[in-house]
Amino acid sequence: MLENLFHAKWVLARIRANRIGEDLERYAAYLIGRGYTTRTARGYLNAAEHFGRWLGRRPLSRAMAERFMRCHLPICRCPSPAVRRLKTIKAAINRLLEMKGVASATFELPGGFVGDLLRRYEEHMITVRGLVATTAHKRLVYMRTMLTDLRVRRAGQLLAWTPERIEQYLCGKALHRPPGTAQDIACAARSVKGGVKL
Ligand SMILES: [Zn+2]
Repeated sequence: MLENLFHAKWVLARIRANRIGEDLERYAAYLIGRGYTTRTARGYLNAAEHFGRWLGRRPLSRAMAERFMRCHLPICRCPSPAVRRLKTIKAAINRLLEMKGVASATFELPGGFVGDLLRRYEEHMITVRGLVATTAHKRLVYMRTMLTDLRVRRAGQLLAWTPERIEQYLCGKALHRPPGTAQDIACAARSVKGGVKL
């Protein structure tokens, strides 16, 4: 499918050699299958390629996408082709994450301590625990809900959690959620407390 968008052999070789080359190959088919014009699909492909080049060994996640847009783009000096138009980059990355089943475009991490903790938690789940992006994202959503519900604002509050407090929270949630949710939350809570340095 990549051949439908790019014809030059050296361009195809460069894209395939990208850290997320296999994803980019699928991405081309994904965009074409959704009726994007060749011009738009090419632009998105180049934008995703730029993101993949910057990613290197980092995990492909929404947190990384945010970091790329917020921290890298303003100071980007990457050689051409490096799409820098934020609107294109945002749309391209959203479609890419959507294809990977990573996250909905509306999911945003809060600022401050909680956002920072969740970002590190997502990275930890993917790089240390080796979870697939969709599972990591599901747990991230639960944790964000839990931290918001329990009004956690500072590290000290998190350390003060007792098993009873978590249990109480889980019982309340389990009544309104599908089976397995409580287990997912408990697992996420354990790894936040145990795996991520506060
Ligand atoms: Zn760059």
